[in-house]
Order: sequence, then structure tokens, then C-alpha cells
Amino acid sequence: MKNQELVDYLASCGVCRICQLRYLKARGSEYRDINKTFQRLEVTVDDSDNDDDDELKQDPVKKPRLANCSLCLGLFSDSFQRDLISRILSSDFAKYENQSIVLAISMPLTLQLRQLSMWFALQRKFGSPPIDQNSSPDVPIKEAVKLILHPIICKQLGKEYDANGLMINIELKHIVEKDEVDKLTKLQQEAFPPHRNQKRTEISRGLLEKQYQPSRIKFELYEKYFTIPPTTEAEPLQLESIKLTGPIVCVAGRYRKLSRELSHTPWVLNGQRQMEDSIEEIIIRNISQHFTEEQGHITFMSSGREDVDVRCLGNGRPFVLEVPNALRLSLSKQVAFEMEQSVDKSNKVSIRDLQVVPRDQITYIKTGEEQKKKHYRALCALKEPVTLDILQKLQISEPFDIQQKTPIRVLHRRPLHTRPRTIYSLKARVQRDNLKSLVIDIVTQAGTYVKELVHGEFGRTKPSISSIIGKPIDILALDVEGIDLDWPPEVNNAVENK
Ligand SMILES: [Zn+2]
Repeated sequence: MKNQELVDYLASCGVCRICQLRYLKARGSEYRDINKTFQRLEVTVDDSDNDDDDELKQDPVKKPRLANCSLCLGLFSDSFQRDLISRILSSDFAKYENQSIVLAISMPLTLQLRQLSMWFALQRKFGSPPIDQNSSPDVPIKEAVKLILHPIICKQLGKEYDANGLMINIELKHIVEKDEVDKLTKLQQEAFPPHRNQKRTEISRGLLEKQYQPSRIKFELYEKYFTIPPTTEAEPLQLESIKLTGPIVCVAGRYRKLSRELSHTPWVLNGQRQMEDSIEEIIIRNISQHFTEEQGHITFMSSGREDVDVRCLGNGRPFVLEVPNALRLSLSKQVAFEMEQSVDKSNKVSIRDLQVVPRDQITYIKTGEEQKKKHYRALCALKEPVTLDILQKLQISEPFDIQQKTPIRVLHRRPLHTRPRTIYSLKARVQRDNLKSLVIDIVTQAGTYVKELVHGEFGRTKPSISSIIGKPIDILALDVEGIDLDWPPEVNNAVENK
């Protein structure tokens, strides 16, 4: 089988020039200058039936509309590409600021069936070998789309191709599809009858790829349902829909919780909201708009959390927002500063170090959480004035271990365990205007229940501050003063705004 014979036969079956090249196994850039490639392969082609590039240059009225390629149904034609570009441009494309794109094209099954029909036709015409039984004689459409369509679309849209870019999901349909899937369902029954008790096989792309090859199905049977070789169609492929999905952007920072009446995430009990706002909601509503129109899909994560009545001060607690379908990936210092200021206006939460971070860094917020040190300041009350003895017992600079049973207050959501925890240091002082009050600075291993560390919870935490001083002690207020996590890096967004 010579190249010329193959091309002549394909042309007689209404196969377009690009698809002819696919059957000559052309690669990469060989699709860019078709004429040159044909020349190199020593194939002469009849130019009169070429519906490619010159279509516009000629008088379109004189030229009758040609039938669509029997293999790609016009997928590789110039008019299809023009349509596709204009449809992309009239979608929400302009809303996205991405520099790169990725294409996901969903094609009708009829294109796969046409590939098989041609495979059979070539075997019949040229024998087997030279036409292989087990691997298709063409560069498959999916691969050809990458080689041909992707570069053209990227160039037309002025974007780079990148798997992490804006995803353009293109769904293609063709009017013969329904009829052919019906036939295919019948053919499937006959060619691969299900065993008893076996469910009917769902017709899918994967099934076609796996089972529909000349080595697995007889062409006599196939021909009962489908034409060999495939026929041209008057109707081209239709662009059913174009949907855009922006990439995921991660925005990190540190928050300080200034209120003792604010939950971490929306607090709902038996369908009733317990508090009108939450840290998560305040941060998301002040940051999301810049990045997305779909606020509801954002995920909020932080390095641990504090109780509703506990403040978080110091440098604050690292957090990160994962924003899917992002319209943009960048955040200028000025915009970040405006966001920080608008969160501050809540008077309940304050944020800093706001910045876009690489997605692979968000694991930092979760890993090593148990090993981290946490710094607390607790305001505690005794039943009697603080003595020197008590103060001395609560100056501990050497780490010591405690055994802590799951507190009763969280047993409804945490399993009952006894956990060892390390207390790194304790440092107490008397509050100036109340001699029965102590301010205790506590450094603990993350995951320690500090309230229970103070009062001991009837011996469920051992030892406790209460057991160390041998007296009952109560905790009035607790602040987180620092979290040992050197991430995200500090940034001063205010610098350029002065
Ligand atoms: Zn074609």
C-alpha cells in the first residue's frame, strides 16, 4: 500500500485533508503546512475539492457547500475553528484574567464508530496486514485535537497552554448521534451478549476503545448496523455548550479573633443559628469577590481553632482559603490591604499577611499540627488571695507531661481517649487590682484542652494547675497568644499604600 493509494482511497470516501494526514501518521508540526507534508510524503492531492484555508479568499457564492468529512465531521475545518473561537469569546471568557488555558473537548461517540468503520474499510481494501488488527491505522482524533486544534486556539486567544490554566470545557454533538447510539446498543447485545445475571453493559467511550476493534468484532456483524466505509454528512458537528472552569487559587493570611462571642465556622444547632456570624464568614465575604462569583464553594482552613469564648491575639492564627473556579490568580498589595481593612471593620476579626500562595503549600497548615507549640494567656480566679507559695508553684520552665481525658464538653463530637500532652512552661502573676486573680502564661503542645488543664475537670486531666497548687481554681477568660507556625510568610500590605 503506497501513500498515494491510501490518500486517493480516503479522498474517495470524503475524508478531509487533515484526516488524510492522520492516516499517514503525520506528527506534531506536520499538520501546520499540509501541502509541504504531502509533498514530503510524495503524495499529490487534487486541490479542487479542498475546503480548507482558501475558502474565504474565493467567492463563497460560487463554491457549493461541501459535505463534512466522513471521519471528523468537520472538526478540523476552518469554519469549525472560527465558530469555536467566536463561541469561546462570546462566553464568560473575558471575565477570567488567566494567562493560560486548557481544553477539554467531549466528542460524540459517532467519531469513534467512524474510526472503526474506516479501519474495517482499509482492511478490506488493502488487506491485513498491512492494516494492523490491534492498533488503529490513524493518529486518533483525541491526539490529533491536541496536535492541531490546541495550538490554533491558543494562538487565536493569545494564551499559553497549561494543564493548570482556565479550563474550557467544550461539548460537541452531532445529529446522527442518537440514532447511532441506538444501533450501537443493539450491536452490543448481539456482539457481546451479557451472561445470565449480568447487567446490560452501559455504552461508553471506554467500552468502545476496549471492545470495538477488528480483532474483537466481526465486520460482517458490524456492517449490519453501520456503513463501511463511513459516509460524509451534510450537517457539521454542533457546539452544544462551552463551560469555563477557572483554576483553584489559595489565599493565605493570619487572623486575630477579637471577640469572645464568635464561632469559628457557622454554628448551627438543630437547624437554628446560634450566633449571627463566624470567622469563616467574615473573612470569606471580604475576600471572595475579587477572586470568584461563587462564594459558596470556598473552603476555609486554619491551623487549629479556638473556642467561641476564646480570643486569638498575638500574630494571629494562619488560615487559607481555597477558591475554586477563580477569575484571577493575582492579588496586588493594594487590594490585599483593602481586604485587610474591610475585615478589620467587623471589629470581631482582624487579618494580616494576606497573600496568594502556591496550592501545594496549604498542607503546611495541617501537617505537624500536633507538634506545634501554642501560647496561651489565662485569667484565673481562686477562692482566696494568691499566696507566694501558689505563685512559686506556677513558675515552671521545664516541660512536663499530663494525661488528659477527652473533656465532657466535647464528648458529643470526639471519642473518649486519654491523651498525653506536653506542657512546656507555666508563668503566673497576680492581677494588679484583684488579689484573688491570676494571669497565667501557658505554653502547651497543640491539642491540649487548656480550660481543663487549669481546673482539672474532677481529675480527668492529671496533673492540672489545680492539682499543682492543691486548690480549686477557675478559668475566667482565655486568649491564644501565639501559634508556632512560620507560614504564610509575613507581608506588609500597607507599605505601598502610604
Ligand atoms: Zn476530517
